[in-house]
Amino acid sequence: MAETASQALPLDGPLFDDSAPSVRPPQGTVTPHGTLAVYEPGSGKLVGEVRVSTPAQVREAAASARLAQMEWSGRPLRDREAILLAFKQLLLDRAEEVGDLIVRENGKTKNEALFMEVLPVADLTHYFAKHARKILRDEKLPLHMFPHKKSYLRYYPRGVIGIISPWNYPFSIPGGDVVMSLLAGNGVVLKPSEFTPLIAEKLRSLLEEAGVPRGLVQVVHGRGDVGAALIQSGVNMIVFTGSVATGKKVAAAAAPDLKRTTLELGGNDPAILLDDVQPAEVADRVYRYAFANNGQICSAIKRVYVPEKIYDEVVDALADHARAAKVGDGSDPETQLGPINNRPQYDRVSELVADALKGGARAAAGGKPIDSPGNFFEPTILADIADGTRIVDEEQFGPALPVIPYRDVDDAVERANATHFGLSGSVWSGDADRAAEVAERLECGTAWVNTHLALAPHQPFGGAKWSGLGVENGPWGLYGFTELQVLHRAKH
Ligand code: NAD
Repeated sequence: MAETASQALPLDGPLFDDSAPSVRPPQGTVTPHGTLAVYEPGSGKLVGEVRVSTPAQVREAAASARLAQMEWSGRPLRDREAILLAFKQLLLDRAEEVGDLIVRENGKTKNEALFMEVLPVADLTHYFAKHARKILRDEKLPLHMFPHKKSYLRYYPRGVIGIISPWNYPFSIPGGDVVMSLLAGNGVVLKPSEFTPLIAEKLRSLLEEAGVPRGLVQVVHGRGDVGAALIQSGVNMIVFTGSVATGKKVAAAAAPDLKRTTLELGGNDPAILLDDVQPAEVADRVYRYAFANNGQICSAIKRVYVPEKIYDEVVDALADHARAAKVGDGSDPETQLGPINNRPQYDRVSELVADALKGGARAAAGGKPIDSPGNFFEPTILADIADGTRIVDEEQFGPALPVIPYRDVDDAVERANATHFGLSGSVWSGDADRAAEVAERLECGTAWVNTHLALAPHQPFGGAKWSGLGVENGPWGLYGFTELQVLHRAKH
């Protein structure tokens, strides 16, 4: 029988002395005991540890998942659906418990954990469990020229899917990928981010509790080298979510044996405000979609283009929101923005904001780290800034938003598109038709009008240009977890 290679250690049994924080290895690095230790990003308290997997263990995990997958793929789809629906129910019943662990490990607020992680996975599971049979059923192909022959399309599982995931949505990103993999008949080896390994173990244990056979979903732990080992471990496909830089390494490592890959990569989403918006009203919404999850969302608004004539009003309104935001520990119900998840990301946001200020930008709100032991950063609005500044051109992935003035819509669209990123973007106007015409000109996977971040399991999500290859969600996403075969046969 296939075994689950659990690398989790008991949460109450740390391997090193937590009373001496100054000698702790930094979060996300491997301890002398060969583990990854997880600390609450706000308080620095130890949450738990996992053992780092060796390359041999990664290969064993892939082999065990394959053994289990042979049995799983032979089951009728309705049996797989029933197990996934039981998983959905478990998530609903245990949402608080799962949410609390996400808060402790990632730092986000409980609301974000519940409404942007746990419940969306329940919703996605429901959608795919209800629609997989229809999406994956065999499809007759008309053969007008050859009436004596029959032909049809069928979808069969790829085998074992290697999933490599980031820390910003540590439950919903791997959760969605695992659910789609399993419904399509695959096994899984998941390598979560080194900053958020514990919630991945929780995902696996909930799936098993719901009836997913032990061994079918394996979790391996470590940094990038373990992700690299997973690509070489014999899995049939890599589903990667992370930065563009790592995505390119994954694509290169997968190339020699033409391993299938889906790459969901970074974004630098522009929001273009047209000249007929109500500044206060639109600033309220733009602020929400830029600072949700403390700005740590691939498709959050990351730069705002504003007509010169309403520029000051919009900047002031955005700055009012940023100044009023309650920053604090994610577990405090009053908190609106939690800490940045990890030190390298906190350092990156600090560096990009300092660079902008040094280059002459003005901090209309915030502008610096908050003096505390946690990874807290002031919600920051940067004004009097232009394209060519690093924080406008690069993905900041944190609580700092550059606001750029423009004179002419064509010029704003051109600047919005003058990037290798192409994940998503939005256009805002009192006239939705006019905004839609502009939105159609954005070179990105999802373009919104008068909203942003509106995602749903039936909608495909993916990036244009360097923001990705392939899509997830909807029928198009589920097909990605299968191989397509044309079965063409003569009647007799
Ligand atoms: P990252 O690229 O640093 O790491 C992502 C994962 O890749 C981690 O598990 C990491 O350990 C692993 N990894 C690192 N090097 C590797 C290698 N050489 N081979 C294989 N795996 C390797 O990204 P991150 O900092 O965890 O996440 C933030 C990034 O993810 C941002 O750019 C964000 O926009 C992007 N993201 C994209 C989406 C999307 O759907 N498009 C969703 C969420 C996050």
